Amino acid sequence: MLKDKNEQRTSLASLGEFGLIDHLTANFKITQSSTVKGIGDDAAVLDFASKKVVVSTDLLVEGVHFDLSYMPLKHLGYKAVIVNLSDIYAMNAKATQITVSIAVSNRFPLEALEELYAGIQLASEIYKVDVVGGDTTSSTKGLLISVTAIGEVEEEKITYRNGAKENDLLVVTGDIGGAYLGLKVLQREKSVFEVNPNNQPDLDMYSYIIERQLKPEARKDIPPLLHELGVKPTSMIDISDGLSSEVMHLCKQSNVGCNVYEDKIPLDPQVISTCEEFNLDSTTIALSGGEDYELLFTISQEDYPKIKANPNLTIIGHITQASEGMHLVTRANTKIELKAQGWNSMEA
Ligand code: ADP
Ligand code: MG
Repeated sequence: MLKDKNEQRTSLASLGEFGLIDHLTANFKITQSSTVKGIGDDAAVLDFASKKVVVSTDLLVEGVHFDLSYMPLKHLGYKAVIVNLSDIYAMNAKATQITVSIAVSNRFPLEALEELYAGIQLASEIYKVDVVGGDTTSSTKGLLISVTAIGEVEEEKITYRNGAKENDLLVVTGDIGGAYLGLKVLQREKSVFEVNPNNQPDLDMYSYIIERQLKPEARKDIPPLLHELGVKPTSMIDISDGLSSEVMHLCKQSNVGCNVYEDKIPLDPQVISTCEEFNLDSTTIALSGGEDYELLFTISQEDYPKIKANPNLTIIGHITQASEGMHLVTRANTKIELKAQGWNSMEA
């Protein structure tokens, strides 16, 4: 969080645009057989043979989607990649390439972009995606970063949001609510720091939820896991907003209703303890937090035995007829209508 006063600052202008791109991407390696030509020509060339290609883009804007006072640039680069990969995995596909475009004001020295690209490179290595292009331009204020992710999938495996059927089971990966609470902790520490810059926060007890916020991971493992288990979800979406709004997207697009059971929602113990400390309701946080990048999907009842023993997968409810509506069944066994209180970047 603290800025090093002695850090080296090389101005971007001294390199020029081409020098900058070369410098930042010098260590990027091509690992995917579908990449025919990566960075360096007018366009990348890809070959997916008989596979279908899935493409997804996200745009992240400083001050709207991230705050550099508690988001280190390396983490930002990493996160910008994984939020896009998450969308590819939500199609039940394998991510293979990304492009990265940045607009940057002259307040950023080269060293800052090196940090950003270190995060991009780390994510591309861990998730095995090739960086095959991008664009670089200046901005009058702040930093913008846009990542486009490309993936491949056999046609019969593609999973849309609109295939959920009555009686299907609603399944979520991992646990949820952590990323939002991590942000709450970081925001609190930032305001403490502003009042007293000598106050060094002890964040050990929040390590899991802060990591969920600053270094989220996408569920690369889930498409191959589903394949291994012999399960083709009937619908799937990634949880970038709150659980509630994602459940509603699936149901609306599939023209069905659902019951989600409050006591089934998977929560990490740190989420529960931090909610107590902040006097927040953990179910509300799980339903309307956001940025967990877990996957939410539906499976037909007959696939239940295939997934029931898997610790990564939790059944949180089931699909009903559309006319029954979308509900949360509370611990007290009352039914509350689900609301789309999802985290919305437009409100940030
Ligand atoms: P053009 O003038 O056609 O837009 P550029 O000079 O911007 O071409 O880009 C040259 C090459 O560098 C292209 O392969 C482009 O995809 C790549 N590139 C440009 N900016 C970035 C970036 N920020 N990250 C990765 N690759 C980039
Ligand atoms: Mg360009």
